[in-house]
Amino acid sequence: MTTDGPQDDWVNRLSALRQYERNGKRAPHKPLLVLMALGRLAETGSSELPWSDVEERLADLIAEFGPATRTTRRQSAAYPFTHLRSDGLWTLSRDVPMGNVGPLDAAPISGRLDASLEMALSRPGQIEEAARLLVDMQFPRTVAPDVLIAVGLDPDQVFAIGSASAPESEKRRRSSSWPLAILEAWDRQCAFCGFDGQLGWSSVGLEAAHVRWFNLGGPDDMNNGMALCSLHHKLFDRGALGLNQEYRIRVSAVFSARTDAAKRIYDLHGQPLRPRRGTDLPAARHVDWHSSQVFRGQPLAV
Ligand SMILES: [Zn+2]
Repeated sequence: MTTDGPQDDWVNRLSALRQYERNGKRAPHKPLLVLMALGRLAETGSSELPWSDVEERLADLIAEFGPATRTTRRQSAAYPFTHLRSDGLWTLSRDVPMGNVGPLDAAPISGRLDASLEMALSRPGQIEEAARLLVDMQFPRTVAPDVLIAVGLDPDQVFAIGSASAPESEKRRRSSSWPLAILEAWDRQCAFCGFDGQLGWSSVGLEAAHVRWFNLGGPDDMNNGMALCSLHHKLFDRGALGLNQEYRIRVSAVFSARTDAAKRIYDLHGQPLRPRRGTDLPAARHVDWHSSQVFRGQPLAV
């Protein structure tokens, strides 16, 4: 850490976690562990996390917010818990080999954020700024608040912190006209359910949704978006809803509902999209990305 730019230093070190994404493949394991440590730091003043806490909670976070994987739950938690050391962000209370669960179980062990990083984050607002940098790098705004709540941070406080602090080289500019162009192309109706509510002259509860997430390489193109109502946008970004290659809606078997209102989601399964005549459908490559990186588990049996 340099003495003249401590904040730039931690911004660069956290931003470097992005390098593990390849071709839009999601790799949120390490960022989720850092977020968990930030939640612990905010709560207790120390980021120390025993492996016994991490193996359960981090595995849950990875299963809930990461892409589908064949790795076992404990293995998926052991990977960031040991490998985050090589990013200069993390230290363990005793030395263990990278990636193996066995040595972690052999005796108590805990991890914590690197001391210089923890020190830099002790200034007011720095934990929130670091958390914002990480969630903005990894998740769309429909999902980020759920992640923050799960790690014990307050989304309102995190998003109240000024502009995201990613280095300029990390930022891509969003097209400011894209959301409106998408809403108009889809006739201001949800592509899934047809919801078209307006308050006065403007749509309400209707959003422009990226199929491939913007922060994971998804472009602001007409063939990477749909108009979705707020509920279906959220469920699409959380992987409860998806599309098959014939542009029919898929409902994940992981999604469950008890009331009639929520069970209406099941009825979407197999329904076609509702584009206006002439509107671009999402490109197959973006639909494939969503299917492999976001959609949860298996679709309902037809
Ligand atoms: Zn809808």
